[in-house]
Amino acid sequence: MKSYRKELWFNVPTRRAFINITGQVQDCLGESGITEGLVLCNAMHITASVFINDDESGLHQDYDEWLERLAPHAPVAQYRHNVGEDNADAHMKRQIMGREVVVAVTAGQLDLGTWERIFYGEFDGRRRKRVLVKIIGE
Ligand code: ZN
Repeated sequence: MKSYRKELWFNVPTRRAFINITGQVQDCLGESGITEGLVLCNAMHITASVFINDDESGLHQDYDEWLERLAPHAPVAQYRHNVGEDNADAHMKRQIMGREVVVAVTAGQLDLGTWERIFYGEFDGRRRKRVLVKIIGE
């Protein structure tokens, strides 16, 4: 069995953003030389997510507004977590959107559904953060 590991780095200039990382994960798969197996892709921070959905800007705006209704950023004093920091909402948004995805690798390709794309969800940006890509297989 072969094994591959890489960290993807992000420094999003805004507090929140959704970034399509499908191409970067596919590039990792190419580098790995693995043609049959599994890709695990996870955020390495508790205020960011990796998830799979449609690459459609209206949907991303809908997500952002939905998450803001569920866990509004302001007023920051509404959260017990926000003693000396202001990112309680980002912890909650990450919890809803998830930590990681697992994608099958078939014939050297990410075996995704027709409209499935892999996204990095940032909820407390403006600093360097990492995503782990781990690939195992043959
Ligand atoms: Zn925090």
